[in-house]
Amino acid sequence: MTRFIEVRTSRRSQLLDITVEVQRALSASGLEEGAALIYVPHTTAGVTINENADPSVAEDILSHLEKMVPRSGSFRHREGNADAHIKATLVGFSQLVPVRGGRLELGTWQGVFLCEFDGPRSRRVLLSFLRSAP
Ligand code: ZN
Repeated sequence: MTRFIEVRTSRRSQLLDITVEVQRALSASGLEEGAALIYVPHTTAGVTINENADPSVAEDILSHLEKMVPRSGSFRHREGNADAHIKATLVGFSQLVPVRGGRLELGTWQGVFLCEFDGPRSRRVLLSFLRSAP
């Protein structure tokens, strides 16, 4: 069953921790053993997993993506957000996380982040909870 969560971002580039929202939807689904597919159906936002204990990790990821793909670069895409498309491709649009005992099997320091590169705007994150074969 596919569910979704709506996220409102507040800056042009932002890593937004959505771990609690994903876990809440997982708990509501009743899935005990399997996997959670977390998918972002956008072209200028993505999803990644990284440290959510120290917020400077997310800040470093954003600042270094900005150095790798500056907004002021030379692009053929004329919408003014070519850098956002490239950054979203670099982080990717889906994550697959094992589920055990009804919990996302994330590492101690891991969190799930929506990666906004052309905000602020509303974003949708699709969730598919996949049951393991018995
Ligand atoms: Zn565009």
